[in-house]
Amino acid sequence: MLSEQAEEILEALWIKMEEGKKSLDLGACRDEPACEALSKLGFIRIDKDHVHLLEKGKSEAMACVRRHRLAERLLVDVLDIKKKMIDEVSCKFEHLLHRGLEDNVCSLLGHPKACPHGKPIPPGRCCAEKKTKKLSRIIAPLSELEVKDKGQIGYLQAKDSNQMQKLLSIGAIPGVSIVLLQKFPSYVFQIGHSQFAIDEDLAQRIYVRLSK
Ligand SMILES: [Zn+2]
Ligand SMILES: [Zn+2]
Repeated sequence: MLSEQAEEILEALWIKMEEGKKSLDLGACRDEPACEALSKLGFIRIDKDHVHLLEKGKSEAMACVRRHRLAERLLVDVLDIKKKMIDEVSCKFEHLLHRGLEDNVCSLLGHPKACPHGKPIPPGRCCAEKKTKKLSRIIAPLSELEVKDKGQIGYLQAKDSNQMQKLLSIGAIPGVSIVLLQKFPSYVFQIGHSQFAIDEDLAQRIYVRLSK
């Protein structure tokens, strides 16, 4: 098993890759045993002063990032930790989210596509299968609720600010109560005394905290 430091190095490398950069300044991790362990595994290559993520290390790095961002979602959506604090807490927490558990958490949270900072969560097998049992879910996109399911809007995952405006203009605001009334031909839901009809794309962007 990788040490926490090793996982953090892999994560940092993955984030660089997302930013389109190929390597990481070696900086402080130069003499760390974590770097040595990773390079022995063939996950990274160390140049003079740069660390490169190798093909063999990519899936491991992706899994680390996935755990981190799912942990953030879990902290914010379920445990209600304030966004300001998640950076401090999630670093410790992600290491507790052990392999094999992340797909359960992912399902529980309705297979979220991005962390609370808006960074993409690499999908896992569970996201493709979508075999989520309804009972086990805490949060799910509106598009995956059944008629008469109700809850509170947890968060919105708009693709851009226009879409966010649109969602907010129909009253889809985190914290408000929502009931799904109809799924076809469009998604009709009720917020307060008003009913709205939206298409599937928008319905996928409203994550609802289900109430029993
Ligand atoms: Zn994040
Ligand atoms: Zn998933």
